[in-house]
Amino acid sequence: MTSVLDATTATDLSDDSPTPDTVSLIQRPLIEAHDLTRRWGKGSNAQLGIDRVSVTIDRGELAAIVGPSGSGKSTLGALIAGIDRPTSGSLVVDGTRIDKLSDDRLARWRGRTVGIVFQNFHLLPTLTAAENVQLALRLGDRGAGRRERRERTTDALCVVGLGDKTKRLPGQLSGGEQQRVAIARAIVTRPGLIVADEPTGSLDQASGHVVFDLLAGLAKTGTTVVLITHDRHLASESDRVIEMLDGAIDHQPPPDSSAVPSTVPSIAGAAMPTAQPIGAR
Ligand code: ADP
Ligand code: MG
Repeated sequence: MTSVLDATTATDLSDDSPTPDTVSLIQRPLIEAHDLTRRWGKGSNAQLGIDRVSVTIDRGELAAIVGPSGSGKSTLGALIAGIDRPTSGSLVVDGTRIDKLSDDRLARWRGRTVGIVFQNFHLLPTLTAAENVQLALRLGDRGAGRRERRERTTDALCVVGLGDKTKRLPGQLSGGEQQRVAIARAIVTRPGLIVADEPTGSLDQASGHVVFDLLAGLAKTGTTVVLITHDRHLASESDRVIEMLDGAIDHQPPPDSSAVPSTVPSIAGAAMPTAQPIGAR
């Protein structure tokens, strides 16, 4: 598995992949996984993460992936986010066969396409909230100049309701606030896809709901959100619940196209998502 820093950022953003045909891409689901398998080791020692999983997720959808511990949720999430690779199967995200990319290209693709949120925040403890967010921008979007980086960092922290705590260290913030910094870090590069693995798992119910509302707000403005959670109550508030069991999809209702905004931009150049301001609920 790639390191946290690598997972949330890219080292070089020069776009060397072909320009996608925007019109035809918008008509396709954002994520198309076919027969995805992830296995570790061989023979009798082999560990199976997921086994021939096929799943589609639409643009702008808030899709919850639920299932018991060990059912393969994180494995699937890591593949979709491009921080791990399938053993077999195909995975198309926004028109790119990411299972076919070299490591370098996958890192670049990830840096401009995906924002990742983990259960335990993964903030750097010696950096302030603003510095944590800006680091993702420095590494993930080299096109932005210093002033633009500062503005985008402040904007992202305001979106998550932390405009007044930008200079705090993670240790001076509550768990819920730390996770909101992590969300700001995930959205500051303006990704079209957010993959959040148990983002509320370490939070109390109220803070967890604030985090969920932020993710739901991002989906409403066109960002695709894959939310891995064992909280079925939160999952039930998503557009769609995909159930996993023993490394396979147990239940997958078809995407509900009415839940998705009618004009969803292609991932490339997506606007800064605007989430519901904190406290608006
Ligand atoms: P979940 O997120 O639903 O709790 P995971 O995707 O983490 O489940 O794990 C699914 C299965 O894959 C489990 O049996 C787990 O032990 C196995 N697994 C996950 N990661 C690895 C790994 N790096 N090496 C070996 N087995 C793994
Ligand atoms: Mg997990």
